[in-house]
Amino acid sequence: MDTVRTRIAPSPTGFPHIGTIYQVLVDFAFSRQNHGQFVMRLEDTDRARFVEGAEGIIYDAFAWFGLAPDESPKVGGPYAPYRQSERLPLYRKYVDSLIGKGYAYHCFCTRGRLDEMRKTQEKNHQPPMYDQTCLKLTADEVRARLKDGIPYVIRMKVPEHETIAFDDLIAGHIEFDSDVIDHQVILKSDGYPTYHLAVVVDDHLMEISHVFRGKEWISSTPKHVLLYRYFGWDMPVHGHLPLILNEDGKGKLSKRHGHASVEYYRKGGYLPEAVLNYLSNIVWHHPEGKEIYPLAEFIRLFDIRSIGSQAPRFDLKKLDWVNGQYIRALDDKELHERLVAFDASIGTLEHSLVSRTIPLVKERMSTLKEYRSLAGFFFERPKGFERPFAADVLSIGKKALEMTDWDHEAMERAVRSASEKAGIKARDLFMEIRVAVTGKTVGPPLLESLEILGKEETLKRLEIGL
Ligand code: GLU
Repeated sequence: MDTVRTRIAPSPTGFPHIGTIYQVLVDFAFSRQNHGQFVMRLEDTDRARFVEGAEGIIYDAFAWFGLAPDESPKVGGPYAPYRQSERLPLYRKYVDSLIGKGYAYHCFCTRGRLDEMRKTQEKNHQPPMYDQTCLKLTADEVRARLKDGIPYVIRMKVPEHETIAFDDLIAGHIEFDSDVIDHQVILKSDGYPTYHLAVVVDDHLMEISHVFRGKEWISSTPKHVLLYRYFGWDMPVHGHLPLILNEDGKGKLSKRHGHASVEYYRKGGYLPEAVLNYLSNIVWHHPEGKEIYPLAEFIRLFDIRSIGSQAPRFDLKKLDWVNGQYIRALDDKELHERLVAFDASIGTLEHSLVSRTIPLVKERMSTLKEYRSLAGFFFERPKGFERPFAADVLSIGKKALEMTDWDHEAMERAVRSASEKAGIKARDLFMEIRVAVTGKTVGPPLLESLEILGKEETLKRLEIGL
C-alpha cells in the first residue's frame, strides 16, 4: 500500500464538536497504525460562517487531546498551504480545466430566478434542483455575458440516467441515481470554491489515501465520484463514520446538548485521555472486552473494518465512570497537579492540606471539577446545610468527640459508644455530625476527614450547628 495519509478538514465555525474528535481519533489511530501521516486542512471557504479565532480553538482542542496533526496550517508541511482560502488560484485552474473538458459550465441565473424556480419546484413536489437553463447557452452567449460583466457561478455537469456507485470502507457498496444529483455549484461568484470542488482537489493534491468523515457527507460523495472521474484521478478510499447519537438514541448529538462541544469536557474536569478512551469504546470493542486501555493500545489493536455502520450512543454516565477510573489510576501527586492545572484556584489553597484530602476524595470523584464540591469544607465552613439538624442528637456527638483522642479509630469508638448509651443509631449520629461539619449528607469518609480538619475546627462547627 502507498503511504497512508488521513486528514481532518474542519471549518472554522466555532468550538469543535466532540464528533470531530471522534473522527480525529480514527484518523490519528489509522495513520499511526500504518506508519503514515495525519493532516489537518482548514476548510474556510464559506466566508458567511467564518468565525474569527476558531482556527486557534481547533488547534487547542487537538493539542489538549494529544492528537496533533503532522501537517497543518500551523506547522506547515510539504503540501502547504493548508488553508483553503490561500489556495484560490489553484481551484480556479482546476475549474477552468473542467470547463475546457466540457464537465462544467457558467451559470448566470440570478438569485431571484433561482428562488422562483425553487418555489415552483416546491409547489409541484419536485426535488430542489437546478433546472439547467444555462447549460443550453451557446459558447457565444457565454462569451457575451462574460464580456458584459454579468456575475456567474460555475456548475458541474451530471450525466443522465446513470448509477453512480462507490465502495465505502465502512458503509459498504453505495449507489446513487445520477438523476437525483444536482448540477452543483463548484465555484461561487466571489471566486471561492464550494466544499465539493475544494475537497476533491485538495484530497487529491495532498495525496490523502483515506477519507474518513461523518455519515452526513455520504450524499455528497457521488458528486465527488464524478469530479474524480472528470479530473481523471484515482479516488482515495472513503469511509463514512456513523454519527454519534444522543443517549436516548433519538437524533444526532447536537449543540443543543451541552455536552456536544469539546469545551464542555475541558471545563467539566474530564481528563482528555479518558474522553479518548470512551470514544474508542463507542467506535470499537476491545478484543479482550477491556473498557480501560491507553491510546497506544487502541492504535495497536484497532481494526477500521470492525467499525459497524450502526450509530453509537453517547452515554455521559458511562463517560463519567471511565473518567473516574482514570482519576483513580493517577497517583496522588499527579492528581494534585492535574487539579491545579484544571483550576488555578486550587493552587492557592494550602498545599499540604490539599495533599492530605486527595486520598479521601479520590475514590468518589468522577471529574476534577467535583474536587471543589467534595473537599470544599476542608477549606471553608459550609455556607448552607442540606437539611436541618436534630440538635439533641448533635450534642451527643459533640460531647463524645470533645473527650476523645483525635484519630479516627478512637473517634469511631467514642461516637459508637455514645450512640449506644443514648439508644440512637450510630448511623444517625454520624449523619448529624456530617451535615453540621460539611453541610452535606454525602462526602468523603467522615472520621478521616475530621482528623484532617482538626479537633478545634470540628468542635466549633458542631457548636455552630447546635
Ligand atoms: N469541511 C467539512 C466539515 O466541516 C469537511 C467534510 C469532509 O471531511 O469532507 O466537516
